[in-house]
Amino acid sequence: MRLISLELNGFKSFAQKTKIEFMPGMTGIVGPNGSGKSNIIEAIRWVMGEQSAKDLRGNKMADVIFAGSDTRKPLNRAEVAITFDNQDHYLNSDYSEIKITRKLYRTGESQYLINGQECRLKDVLDLFMDSGLGRESFSIISQGRVEAIFNGKPTDRRAVIEEVAGVAKYKKNKTTAEKRLADTTDNLHRVGDIISELE
Ligand code: ATP
Repeated sequence: MRLISLELNGFKSFAQKTKIEFMPGMTGIVGPNGSGKSNIIEAIRWVMGEQSAKDLRGNKMADVIFAGSDTRKPLNRAEVAITFDNQDHYLNSDYSEIKITRKLYRTGESQYLINGQECRLKDVLDLFMDSGLGRESFSIISQGRVEAIFNGKPTDRRAVIEEVAGVAKYKKNKTTAEKRLADTTDNLHRVGDIISELE
């Protein structure tokens, strides 16, 4: 799986349709302060389903829509599309190329598409589940988050390491299984009570 391109249209400072193509290997994005480097990373998180306006440095989600400049009027819609090469089917999909699109209008209306087909946010999140990508993963680390990890409590840091190592998923599964086991034990006791009442 490989990131092929990112298209931004009306997202934050990207008023004009802008397509960034990623070549194989490492990519660095450089530019003066305030030129939109962080906005590119935020566009990636947004199109992959980010729901927190605060984590995108805004107060409300509509803050991602181009708000106007000295020379341009504000826009009414933000649109971001991200395309992955999925020939190795690393993402759980039959498609060998996957394009995810997210649109948001000032009216509040929003839309997600996978390869041009309208879908739910859940479908986008499911696509990235267990892939190491996605909004909750550590594949995208903001400057603030690095500081939070360094300044965090040892238990918080351990949680980060467990998440990265893939242990967290099994811990969650274990908790769910333990709860199910406890519920089943309760049910068994109840059935035992009923049987002894009947006897
Ligand atoms: P630095 O190197 O200082 O971290 P950067 O290159 O990462 O900067 P960004 O933080 O991505 O820059 O971009 C900030 C710019 O984006 C600011 O000029 C800000 O006004 C602009 N911006 C953010 N949201 C919007 C919006 N909704 N509409 C228009 N411009 C916006």
